[in-house]
Amino acid sequence: MVKNKGNIGVTTENIFPIIKKFLYSEHEIFLRELLSNAVDACQKLKTIGIAGEYEGDTKNFKIEVILDKDKKTITISDNGIGMSKEEVDKYINQIAFSSAGDFLDKYKNSENAIIGHFGLGFYSSFMVSEKVEIITKSYKKDEKAVKWACKGDPNYTITDAEKESTGTDVILYIDKESEEFLEKERIEQMLNKFCKFLPVPIVFGKKTEWKDGKEVETKEDNIINNILPAWKQKPADLKDEDYKSFYRELYPMNFDEPLFNIHLNVDYPFNLTGILYFPKIKSNLDMHKNKIQLYCNQVFVTDSVEDIVPEFLTILHGVIDSPDIPLNVSRSYLQSDSNVRKISSHITKKVADRLNEIFKEDRKEFEKKWDDLKLFIGYGMISDEKFYEKAEKFALFKNTDNQYFTFDEYKEKIKENQTDNNKQLIYLYANNTEEQYSYIKAAKDKSYDVLILDGQLDLHFINTLEQKFKDSRFVRVDSDIVDNLIRKDDKIESVLNDKEQENIRMVFQGIVPEGKEYSVITDSMSENDMPVLVVKEEFMRRMKDMSAMSGGTNFYKDMPDDYRIIINTNHPIIVDLSSKVENKTASKRENFDEEIQKLDSEKSKLEKKLKDLKEDEKPKADTDKLETVNKKLSEVKDKKTEVFKQLGKKQKIVSQLYDLALLSNNQLKGESLSNFVNRSIELLKK
Ligand code: ADP
Repeated sequence: MVKNKGNIGVTTENIFPIIKKFLYSEHEIFLRELLSNAVDACQKLKTIGIAGEYEGDTKNFKIEVILDKDKKTITISDNGIGMSKEEVDKYINQIAFSSAGDFLDKYKNSENAIIGHFGLGFYSSFMVSEKVEIITKSYKKDEKAVKWACKGDPNYTITDAEKESTGTDVILYIDKESEEFLEKERIEQMLNKFCKFLPVPIVFGKKTEWKDGKEVETKEDNIINNILPAWKQKPADLKDEDYKSFYRELYPMNFDEPLFNIHLNVDYPFNLTGILYFPKIKSNLDMHKNKIQLYCNQVFVTDSVEDIVPEFLTILHGVIDSPDIPLNVSRSYLQSDSNVRKISSHITKKVADRLNEIFKEDRKEFEKKWDDLKLFIGYGMISDEKFYEKAEKFALFKNTDNQYFTFDEYKEKIKENQTDNNKQLIYLYANNTEEQYSYIKAAKDKSYDVLILDGQLDLHFINTLEQKFKDSRFVRVDSDIVDNLIRKDDKIESVLNDKEQENIRMVFQGIVPEGKEYSVITDSMSENDMPVLVVKEEFMRRMKDMSAMSGGTNFYKDMPDDYRIIINTNHPIIVDLSSKVENKTASKRENFDEEIQKLDSEKSKLEKKLKDLKEDEKPKADTDKLETVNKKLSEVKDKKTEVFKQLGKKQKIVSQLYDLALLSNNQLKGESLSNFVNRSIELLKK
């Protein structure tokens, strides 16, 4: 028997310790690397067979994974091309070692930099083994079988071996630290993760069945993979049901059906196949549960594809398979790789085209699915300029009557009636049809249309649309009284005069809750509008909502809520209340007004006198006097306000009107609500 000894041709003696430590958490990839080699070996032989250069069996390729717990070995056995002694020397001793060496040199300091860690190849087996043997027989007729063995140091032996059939067995003698890999379940788990769709049948043990209450082995091989997954088949050969069942195969734990799918099939200028599914997404929560899986020639690489497809597409589910995605490069490099960029924009385009196709072919169906698609499409439009350009043709608005419109259709619909006096087109929207019911109704009474924008991303979406749409603004329906939402010139005269308006404002200040930012405003609306309204100003509300969404601390988040209490000075109840207020305060008011008038004229006299003097020329007596007058003036005014506030507190109707305004916003809760109920009963008794 010829026995060769040698020294592996590798530059660094330290390669094995590095391999052992390398990517500790990723040790399981050894199985993927060895199975990929085995698959390659089978496919090479198949090609040779097709070329007529091999007469043996080229149909029944298979790879076996054999676990021997007693011997502590895992064997990967293929019936592929095999290697001659020279080839072992060349491919294993020289090439494999040096490529592993190069690889490690490049990446030993950046373990996170590698996607899928392809490229470590055969030598990754030393991550888990104290000894590795290769027993191999080349397909070439007169080559003898050889056995190569290496104990994880730079020395190896190569000897003749007994092997009948063509192919290669790689035997791993699993080391102490890696005994987890000797568990059947662990191997099953790895096979399921990496090898589910390898193109050559992988056998792991025998199929089992239940017999007399026991699980027993049958004679049938347990094949763990599907060698022809749907994405590798021709779209024309697949029915809707095939796509659905492949979805279940990919995500056995997911019971929702996808909405649509896209079959990707490109071979120029890059090679890409795959199937993407639109999932039903109702919330951010299930956005990243079933991730897109990236394969390279049917070998699973990773399910974090963030750097390969635009972020919004990571919401999709499914598979991408491309040998043209460089795998052993850093993530930052990946994004600048021109192939990856092409792939990314190709996928974006395909997704948009598919949506457009469905929209055009069956608008009814598209509308039905819109609510489930909306989050995805909105996200894409916000984050990807190119996608926006395509999607603006099929993205839909939904209004409070559950009708759907494209952007163009909607613009046409509201143009006439919702353009304000600055020529701005006002898009009214609600984000809660129950809470904002009274506002929606008020808007509809004016023949305005109200959109529903209640999604998690809609605030961002609105911002995007405001940048895109010319001369347009989005205004939430409850952010002002209906006449102010879309300002037109037809202002109604106020029944109450300026003085009366000021007085009624002071009355309402008596019931304004403390600790919140409220401003009390009077406005002359129609007598059919509400007597009192409470609104949250649009800009501040949006800013606050946005910063609440982004989490963290933020300037706007800590700003107080900015509420406005708006009193309708034309409503009969307010007119009535005003005359009551005028009567009740008549005598006191006159005294105050007299005093205020006196102080005011004193003040203006002094100011006039001091006006043209320089700071140091001003007589001290006068400046002191002015200060006293000012102080007195504000004291008297405060006192006057107090009288009105007290009146407001005493008049039940004031609280009642305010509570009604809150109630119509669904903002009246807890103690305030119960007070309101009791007060209502009392008022009804009278
Ligand atoms: P890579 O697969 O990236 O080329 P490896 O280190 O995994 O690198 O393998 C080196 C070479 O060894 C392969 O290119 C192949 O020629 C040969 N080889 C490895 N495993 C097998 C096998 N099971 N059957 C035949 N040849 C193999």
